[in-house]
Amino acid sequence: MSHKLYKNLIGGEWVASRTGKTFLNINPANSDDIVGEFQSSSAADIDNAVAAAAEAWKSWRLVPAPKRAEILYKTGEILTQRKEQYARDMTREMGKVLAETRGDVQEAIDTAYYMAGEGRRLFGQTTPSELKSKFAMSVRMPVGVCGMIAPWNFPMAIPSWKLFPALVCGNTCVIKPAEDTPLSTYNLVQCLVDAGLPAGVVNIVTGFGPDAGAPIVSHPGVRAVSFTGSSEVGRIVGQTAAGNFKPCSLEMGGKNAMIVLDDAHLDLAVEGALWGAFGTTGQRCTATSRIILHKKIAAEFTEKLVARADALKVGDGLDESVQVGPQVNQQQIETSTRYCEIAKKEGAKLLTGGSALEDGTYDKGHFFAPTVFASVKPGMRIAQEEVFGPVVSLIECADFDEALDIANGIDYGLSTALYSRDVNLAFRAMRDLEAGITYINAPTIGAEVHLPFGGVKHTGNGHREGGTGALDFYTTWKSVYFDYSDKLQRAQIDTGE
Ligand code: ADP
Repeated sequence: MSHKLYKNLIGGEWVASRTGKTFLNINPANSDDIVGEFQSSSAADIDNAVAAAAEAWKSWRLVPAPKRAEILYKTGEILTQRKEQYARDMTREMGKVLAETRGDVQEAIDTAYYMAGEGRRLFGQTTPSELKSKFAMSVRMPVGVCGMIAPWNFPMAIPSWKLFPALVCGNTCVIKPAEDTPLSTYNLVQCLVDAGLPAGVVNIVTGFGPDAGAPIVSHPGVRAVSFTGSSEVGRIVGQTAAGNFKPCSLEMGGKNAMIVLDDAHLDLAVEGALWGAFGTTGQRCTATSRIILHKKIAAEFTEKLVARADALKVGDGLDESVQVGPQVNQQQIETSTRYCEIAKKEGAKLLTGGSALEDGTYDKGHFFAPTVFASVKPGMRIAQEEVFGPVVSLIECADFDEALDIANGIDYGLSTALYSRDVNLAFRAMRDLEAGITYINAPTIGAEVHLPFGGVKHTGNGHREGGTGALDFYTTWKSVYFDYSDKLQRAQIDTGE
């Protein structure tokens, strides 16, 4: 089957990598299906991309923000027209089912419109000066060239969270998509280009992490770095950026807990757990991976969840009847398999799944059976470490306080959920769960783009994507003092007449 060759986008030109090497993007549901061939880039390509972005910044920073926003608005409209095609492309390269890839494109559309609106806000402050005839204000300024490193699980939404706020704020960008999912970033950037984005404002360089990602982080011309991915790589990225005093936003793993109390609407909780644990084949940083069950409802909940997990249809996400797609690559299958072995050795009880699906229709893809473990203890590795696959652990608790302790007893702090109809406990959960996101009577997944997204502890380093948190990352504050008294006035000293 013939496939298309994609090049890097640098300074408005589509160019081959200086390495002369390429790699294949292969459908995880069907190894016969080659989605495309992409450049395997290295530091020399990053140098060129950063130079192009720095040149483009000279004029882009001076384009009025409402005009920059018009390009984003138009991008949202173009994405809307191409939504179905891009969703199909994304299912082919990443695996998740069409309903979800449509949602992924929609998230980019939502972000485009939201950030387009910001073009007419980007508020700063005006505030009184302590001195007479002096005006004081703070203004958001762009940072400069921003480097972006993206993961494969939200191949268009996450790049849009990074690119669109950066652009409306007046920055230029060099983005490296994940090696498993470069096409969705191309599709996103193609819309920006078609909407009239000037050359060099966004540059795409594809390739592998250490070769094409690391040079973005260390490049002296890159003024800020936004990374989403694993905690292991995030640590390297953060340390490198810190060595260069570079602002760096890290969004990493999770081990997200859903607490189900004995007064919960049980069928609703089962429905939420099914979606939270097995949506996106468990490959979300917000995936529900621990379900903390009040002992009074544990047996009934478990029976219902296992029955529903067993009935899920696993397969090629392009088939509309499929509910759970493949994992993104063989490495993820190996991780899921390894954790299932660890869980069994630790004494957890496997209720369903637990292994890759390889027979018949599954032989050309990376499929893993939806998996439920019971009798999990809070300290077990299966309850502490991120699997990033369709594997969920059930942990019993005696009451709400114990549930809180279990939920908080991990290194991560991204998303959490409580199913209960007790309003007092719901408010305590909102206050006491150590996480960047808490849902009440909804699963741990389902973030909306206009709210801050990110977590505490090892999940992140304090920055937020989404909402106005993104503007805080992609701008730097300048305080401006304007003295119209026509004399020298000294702050803190000339306080009298
Ligand atoms: P995942 O396990 O979700 O694939 P990774 O952290 O491995 O997450 O990858 C996330 C992104 O980080 C990808 O774009 C990958 O290419 C990139 N990456 C991997 N290693 C490095 C590195 N050493 N420096 C910079 N980026 C990297």
